[in-house]
Amino acid sequence: MRTKIVAGNWKMNNNRDETETLLAELSAKLPDTDAQVIVAPTFVNLEVSTRALESSTIEVAAQNMHFAENGAYTGEISADMLLNIGVDTVILGHSERRAYFGETDELLAKKVKTAVDKHMKVIFCFGEELEERKSGNHFSVVENQLKNGLFHLDAQAWKHIVLAYEPVWAIGTGETASPEQAQEMHAFIRNTIAKKYNDSVADAVSILYGGSVKPNNASDIFSKPDVDGGLIGGASLKADDFVAIIKAI
Ligand code: PGA
Repeated sequence: MRTKIVAGNWKMNNNRDETETLLAELSAKLPDTDAQVIVAPTFVNLEVSTRALESSTIEVAAQNMHFAENGAYTGEISADMLLNIGVDTVILGHSERRAYFGETDELLAKKVKTAVDKHMKVIFCFGEELEERKSGNHFSVVENQLKNGLFHLDAQAWKHIVLAYEPVWAIGTGETASPEQAQEMHAFIRNTIAKKYNDSVADAVSILYGGSVKPNNASDIFSKPDVDGGLIGGASLKADDFVAIIKAI
């Protein structure tokens, strides 16, 4: 049985007070669930979040980190800094990092390696752009993102990896991949991993879908056999919406 996961990517939203308010509401309303629930507030609010969730099952993730141990990297945050405040999960490769901050597959491969070496859990994001889907290249784009970002890992390391397939055309646009499109791609991803590694690695990895998941479409998407949960942006900023999505899994 694969781990079911619902993760909220808060992006650059919520100041400290808003973070505390949302976490209190979320903790109070959290339904009984087998799924792992994760929230990813901004760096400056991570510590306040780990404290607020000390007696909760909700886990805290960072939205990014640097690959280097430490040193002259102005404005950056290291794995050890995250671990030191009790954050052992990190989102890497989000399409906004790739598009607005120039993060390449090569850079992400280094970040993934550091995170795995530090025994962190990585939520690795990838997915095609609209033009790539329209031209029928979405499978090869996704295959290359997996190869370049993750296939330097040995099979053992995959226990630290969670995948988040997020078609760029569906992020923040209100347009979702249909449950069939999500299932088709998730099955392709699992098959690609089975070919590179083996069935047990492929069968064990949780593959989340992300891109305009809302309370009204979550259960259809989550009902597909290769969809193991979701990475939620906009709808994770409202406790009631996020709770409804958790209930849908
Ligand atoms: P969205 O964002 O749910 O607002 O589309 C998803 C994401 O960027 O992870």
